[in-house]
Amino acid sequence: MVSRLLTNIGELLTNNVELGDHSPVGRLRDAALVVDDERVLWVGDSSSAPDADERYDARGAAVVPGFVDSHTHLIFAGERSDEFEARMAGRPYAGRGIARTVEATRAASDEQLRQESGTRLGALRAGGVTTVEVKSGYSLDVAGEARLVDLASEITDEVTFLGAHVVPREFTHDRGAYVELVAGEMMRRCAGAKWTDVFCDDGAFDVDEARVVLNAGRAAGHELRLHANQLRDIGAISLAVELDCASVDHCTYVDDEDVERLAGSHTVATLLPGAEFSTRSPYPSGRRLRDAGVTVALATDCNPGTSYVTSMSFVIALAVREMGLSVDEAVWSATRGGAAALRRDDVGHLSVGARADLVILNAPRVAHLAYRPGASLVREVWRNGVE
Ligand SMILES: [Zn+2]
Repeated sequence: MVSRLLTNIGELLTNNVELGDHSPVGRLRDAALVVDDERVLWVGDSSSAPDADERYDARGAAVVPGFVDSHTHLIFAGERSDEFEARMAGRPYAGRGIARTVEATRAASDEQLRQESGTRLGALRAGGVTTVEVKSGYSLDVAGEARLVDLASEITDEVTFLGAHVVPREFTHDRGAYVELVAGEMMRRCAGAKWTDVFCDDGAFDVDEARVVLNAGRAAGHELRLHANQLRDIGAISLAVELDCASVDHCTYVDDEDVERLAGSHTVATLLPGAEFSTRSPYPSGRRLRDAGVTVALATDCNPGTSYVTSMSFVIALAVREMGLSVDEAVWSATRGGAAALRRDDVGHLSVGARADLVILNAPRVAHLAYRPGASLVREVWRNGVE
């Protein structure tokens, strides 16, 4: 296996508190890193770096762990820019647009879905994402959801079954039958996923319905995550904590009790500022969650309706500008926080033994990620050590 020395790193965030400045981001200056095709082998000062088979000069650039995007709806057909335009002109999001994407996705061939999601995956990767979670949820029928789970499995191991995204048109008058279908036959056909997720919110599924689906997911061997409190507080965070979900995502509307519950749990709060941006909604306070001791992750929520975002740099910039996180906190949340939301400890940091997933920036300091929103700041992405 070829070893490679990455040297002359101006600023390196390792996310290892034992390294460098011993802050949560484990910052080193004038740093170097040795990787092989899979793992980090060595990290430390440039001046004491060991030899390696190959040498790569970062020329003073900043380096961060590869971004871990723990929440995407990457596989869908079509787009809904008309909805976005109308909403920006004053119409509020009421959660009804998903049905349009379901129609387009059901009608699309496997090849079309592969091609469209592949383009989006390419954008995520080019922006520094090295681990990505992908959800089903745009077919809402047994064969279609199984197809989406299979297509997602071609992209990532972090596949989430989201049959409980919304109640499809055919079941509007019999919600109970749809919940039964999701928790029964659909779950069996989607057992190959790693995760079960439910959109537990106003206009989607209530807490009791979500509990039925999540329990069925656990029985099928899945780990659990939950969309919650994006549109309203219907008690979904209590449910997520009760069922030890790895992550509760959105958390736009949370009261003090929910914050306390999260702080006392192993459930990560995943914030998705692309959704607030794209729906012109008030942003949740990342500051308040962090200060209370909640583990916070950041993700793109890439989807055609409420957050057609494929740039983690943009998400970081929003979290700093709008959610009160420091640059270090935002980058940590987009890397180690995302890993925590996927219950992974092999990614999201650059300690010895971690996966060799990293991003070399076109900037001398990591702060440029928030300081220069919209700029293309990724010079190179090493995923498992491979460019
Ligand atoms: Zn989502």
